Amino acid sequence: MTVQEQIAQNLDGIRARISSAAERAGRKAGDITLIAVSKLNPAESVEAAIAHDQFEFGENWVKELLEKESAVGEYLEANSPETAEKLKWHFIGHLQTNKVRQLIGKTVLIHSVDSFKLASVIDTESKKKDVITDVLLEINIGDEESKYGIRPEEAVDFADSLKDLHNIRIRGLMTVAPICDDPEANRPYFKKMRELFIDIKSKNNDNISMDVLSMGMTLDFEAAIEEGATHVRVGTGIFGARDYGNRS
Ligand SMILES: *Cc1c(COP(=O)(O)O)cnc(C)c1O
Repeated sequence: MTVQEQIAQNLDGIRARISSAAERAGRKAGDITLIAVSKLNPAESVEAAIAHDQFEFGENWVKELLEKESAVGEYLEANSPETAEKLKWHFIGHLQTNKVRQLIGKTVLIHSVDSFKLASVIDTESKKKDVITDVLLEINIGDEESKYGIRPEEAVDFADSLKDLHNIRIRGLMTVAPICDDPEANRPYFKKMRELFIDIKSKNNDNISMDVLSMGMTLDFEAAIEEGATHVRVGTGIFGARDYGNRS
């Protein structure tokens, strides 16, 4: 099987599992967005996924996102201009403030706002470009030392603290749940995310407009959907194992 065929087959499998999980939860498959996490995979793999009707992609590093966005953009302009405008890039990695400027205007959603400083730099750079940037607040739901994100008990106050930043729009929450082989073990974290989501959504701040709950990866996306995820981020399950080389 070619790499292209493998990616198409993997996408079919993930889509079927998303539908079943949605059905079990009494939800519609169409209400769940699959983000194909293409980090460390080449532009050709993204193009193979596009050929199989996958248009939303997630990347962890600014440089890699910009390079791939440009390569895939050129490819589509040449080969399939009608699909070029459907393409959406999500930034899902840890974001350094000095990289924000390059990213503004390139993403449909930044999933990883985890400090006031970062939120305010995104706001300032968005103001300069006269755009409003959609963001998610990253929650460290397992309260793990190794992870980025706002502690769950601080999330509501954190959302409130951003209320004067008018060039960001808080669209929801994101989490990377503790990694484990048993997806059921993450279910309580997903439930807690949904509760936080509802608490913050109920705030009347002008820049809060919550409809996105980004949680669930290759190993646990079905449990996440059953607990309310609107966006799942699947990498390995679509593109296969990644070669991190000297990155971590
Ligand atoms: C890499 C990554 C994913 C995808 O992980 P898989 O286990 O390969 O599905 C999802 N979310 C974030 C934030 C990631 O860094």
